[in-house]
Amino acid sequence: MNIVLMGLPGAGKGTQAEQLVEKYAIPHISTGDMFRAAIKEGTELGLQAKAFMDEGKLVPDEVTIGIVRERLAQADCEKGFLLDGFPRTVPQAEALDSILEELGRPVEHTINIEVEKDELVARLSGRRICKTCGASYHLIFNPPAEEGKCDKDGGELYTRADDNPETVENRLTVNMNQAQPLLDFYEAKGVLTNIDGQQDIDKVFADLDALLQGSRS
Ligand code: AMP
Repeated sequence: MNIVLMGLPGAGKGTQAEQLVEKYAIPHISTGDMFRAAIKEGTELGLQAKAFMDEGKLVPDEVTIGIVRERLAQADCEKGFLLDGFPRTVPQAEALDSILEELGRPVEHTINIEVEKDELVARLSGRRICKTCGASYHLIFNPPAEEGKCDKDGGELYTRADDNPETVENRLTVNMNQAQPLLDFYEAKGVLTNIDGQQDIDKVFADLDALLQGSRS
């Protein structure tokens, strides 16, 4: 079960990915999470990534491709994986094809969760993340039971630096400009499936699940 899950920031990739990896017992490989972990640990990779992330820009391809190459070669990816937030550019997609060819594990599902821009701005501006476990909430669409606290572990909720209102517009524009050629790349290969991400979270999951089970609901 090798899956590439695409969608603009705020489309719900992270939320859906969490449920999919649980159901299918495969590792969740999120380049955004890997960069945030590296920043937290203060590694060289973290230092390289931080400046780009804080400005809402993409981390350079060579850095990003390198960490994904290392991650996919690990043993836990042998039975499958879910890539979330990678590839984001055509060179990354081409690199992914050759990495997987070397490993003998082609991508089986390339999925794009579609949401309109206005909806994405609204979603991102209200997003809050748990400092301890990384769970994602939304002030309006998915609030925690107690304000500022994670339902799962009581951790403090914070706004990601790149979810600040002044960064959100720029981040979306950068991502949309990058995403279109990537979608065209997969469309041309005939392997892209679009899923309507403006439905309820549960319905989006049901659509994804049905697709992975080999039939659409
Ligand atoms: P995400 O959590 O996927 O929204 O990613 C947060 C930030 O990490 C992005 O805005 C980029 O700065 C960086 N990032 C994550 N994945 C990639 C990628 N595939 N290519 C370049 N930059 C990335």
